[in-house]
Amino acid sequence: PFFEEYVPKAFPDAKVLKAKLNANENPYGPSPKAIKAVQEKAFMGNRYAWTELFDLIDKIAAQEGVDPKRIMMGPGSSDLLEKTAMVLFMEGGNIVSADPSYMSLIQVAQSTGAEWKAIPLKKDWSHDLKAMEKAIDSETKLVYICNPNNPTGSMTDHAELLDFCSRVSEKVPIFIDEAYLGFLDDAAKKSMVSLVNEGKDVIIARTFSKIHGMAGLRVGYVVASEKIVDQISKITRGGMGISYTSIFAASASMDDVEFQNKSRKLNTEARSYVCKELDKLGYQYIPSSTSFVIFPIEMDGKVFLEKMMDLGVAVRSFKIMDKTWCRVSIGTMDEMKIFTSSLKQVLV
Ligand code: PLP
Repeated sequence: PFFEEYVPKAFPDAKVLKAKLNANENPYGPSPKAIKAVQEKAFMGNRYAWTELFDLIDKIAAQEGVDPKRIMMGPGSSDLLEKTAMVLFMEGGNIVSADPSYMSLIQVAQSTGAEWKAIPLKKDWSHDLKAMEKAIDSETKLVYICNPNNPTGSMTDHAELLDFCSRVSEKVPIFIDEAYLGFLDDAAKKSMVSLVNEGKDVIIARTFSKIHGMAGLRVGYVVASEKIVDQISKITRGGMGISYTSIFAASASMDDVEFQNKSRKLNTEARSYVCKELDKLGYQYIPSSTSFVIFPIEMDGKVFLEKMMDLGVAVRSFKIMDKTWCRVSIGTMDEMKIFTSSLKQVLV
């Protein structure tokens, strides 16, 4: 693999930090409507939420323009990434993905016994779709594509990706992780969901953790071909892990378009601020379409994390292609000012 991640000794407590910028959380959420829904529905916590879950599935299906049978819910998209990996790789095989990319599904596939075929991103940090297609063989059970990608924040061209998914899914299922898509102004246009209605063997993952600011409330879903939904739900139950209150929080948050627009706008503003500051300091960040920015630094990753933590700032550090990188999540404007001033102190 192309990269490794430095993880701090102890995960910092959000309350003692000045700026918690290490987990790509939305600093504005949850939506006030989602919080109200949790409060109002907590008294129903003695009940299983099957009917309520199906109502949420219908609502999501209508928004995505797909049949409700093609939706599978989970407590966060992690649950569905992991379940997909466990079910598809039960009998071994290999997984093709970019390197670096988001490792959750890949790691579970590897632990289940799969081989990881890691294809370096291109120089412009987009997916090398040609090389990925070439890497597919008779043992390939899944192609995983994270777009926009984590930890790079970069996008792969929409038309090229659509063409790749449309053609290559005839040979092997493709998993497209769209966790950060909601931060784009034209998110709906950039989604791969339309392929599901064309009967393609694709799985598109979405989460309420990012643009909806509900990382701690845990709701995510996949839109997938019926074949895949059946294959996974034969073995595992999708929505069983979601709490009664979170189902209503997700529904209320979907209605609060104003909150999503605010999150997107403030994220873009704070991200532009950080990028301008990094420009001034001479750091070569990767242009980001997400709620985080990554750039190379000239310091040992562990030392860097600890020095930043001493100043009350939590970020992440990765080793990518022999360089050390800092990945900073986009918080509020005030948090980003604390981040840039801490960075100046630490990286002198
Ligand atoms: N996919 C990507 C690319 C992510 O970055 C994350 C979380 O950071 C997830 C999936 C999982 O998020 P969740 O389980 O909260 O939906």
